[in-house]
Amino acid sequence: MGGPLELQSKVLSSSLCTGCGACTSICPYLNAVEGRAVLLEPCGREEGRCYLFCPRTEVNLPHLERRTFGALRTDPVLGFHSSVLKARAAREEVRGRAQYGGTVSSLLLHALREGKVDSVVLTGSSDGVYPEPTAARTEEEVLRCARSRYLLSPSVGEVVRLLRKEEGGRMAFVGTPCQVLALRKIQAYEEEWEVSRVELVVGLFCTWALSHRAGEFLRTKLGGRRVRRFDIPPPPANLFVAETEDGRVELPLDEVRSFIPPSCRVCFDMTAELADLSVGMVEGEEGWNTVILRSERGRELFEEASRRGEVETAPLERERLEHLREASLMKKKRSEEERERLGARYLKEV
Ligand SMILES: Cc1cc2nc3c(=O)[nH]c(=O)nc-3n(C[C@H](O)[C@H](O)[C@H](O)COP(=O)(O)OP(=O)(O)OC[C@H]3O[C@@H](n4cnc5c(N)ncnc54)[C@H](O)[C@@H]3O)c2cc1C
Repeated sequence: MGGPLELQSKVLSSSLCTGCGACTSICPYLNAVEGRAVLLEPCGREEGRCYLFCPRTEVNLPHLERRTFGALRTDPVLGFHSSVLKARAAREEVRGRAQYGGTVSSLLLHALREGKVDSVVLTGSSDGVYPEPTAARTEEEVLRCARSRYLLSPSVGEVVRLLRKEEGGRMAFVGTPCQVLALRKIQAYEEEWEVSRVELVVGLFCTWALSHRAGEFLRTKLGGRRVRRFDIPPPPANLFVAETEDGRVELPLDEVRSFIPPSCRVCFDMTAELADLSVGMVEGEEGWNTVILRSERGRELFEEASRRGEVETAPLERERLEHLREASLMKKKRSEEERERLGARYLKEV
């Protein structure tokens, strides 16, 4: 295990920080500056939780899989899972406020209503651009946080804050693959906090996110208009679309992609492989989600919500499953090349 100096040399100085908030929420020597962790001065420790919890330091994937699923993956591309299908929120009101099919929000509403969790750590935003981690406890709070913010969010920091303050009760968490990885590391290695209070982890598919700097760029391009929803229409559109309160604004995707941080380029996980269940879009089919059921807990919640008529399901077409596998494999290959290029062998799963 390493400490703050290793974190500095292997992660922070190479701009590989994902801004998840795991380290900055536990250590006064680390600060979040423009969405990234900055080491103010070394604390003198040779080993630290800052290094242990970071999603860009060594990952003992078999250990995390055994701990999460009780078994190792048999599918090297999509990770441990029992099925892949399509789903959407049954309630039109939820779909209307969600990013795609509203499956994520529906499952969270079900978990809260049935008393399976007391709160849900989500990523909201008051201007629609900058992410704001939030602990939601009511239906309105969950729906207010629906839809995707594309900037990296420090939402793991919010979970850590709640664990340390003994607040939040039994929690659910929604996050991108790097956030889910940080949280699973915390659950596997933290000995003082009651980490089992995080009872449900919903992962989001993610090819890339945007650095904090993209916020200024988007605000300028949008002339201060409040964003209701961002979307990336399927190829060949090559657009990044903002639906604002004053209409639709189209930006060239390549301009937006220039804000993808190095931390995304080394990421090997497109489908949040350590989540209880993972949710993404269905390319070319508006209003639906692709869902990967992984843990027993994730499957039970999903099947119960489906039985109660809160989510509708449909089989995922074979070509779409193949496409998903291809996209996931591509991300792994790109990540391996990038890690090789950086000589970042320590980032390899061990
Ligand atoms: C940065 C990013 C990149 C993505 N890339 C892809 C992709 O390449 N392919 C794909 O299929 N899907 C991708 N997704 C997932 C997709 O945008 C939807 O979130 C997912 O399909 C769930 O849809 P839904 O209608 O069920 O979501 P909703 O019911 O609207 O719920 C969305 C949830 O996401 C949470 N959220 C929003 N922004 C963030 C954030 N920055 N960090 C953590 N949580 C957040 C919200 O709090 C909300 O609970 C990405 C999401 C993000 C945030």
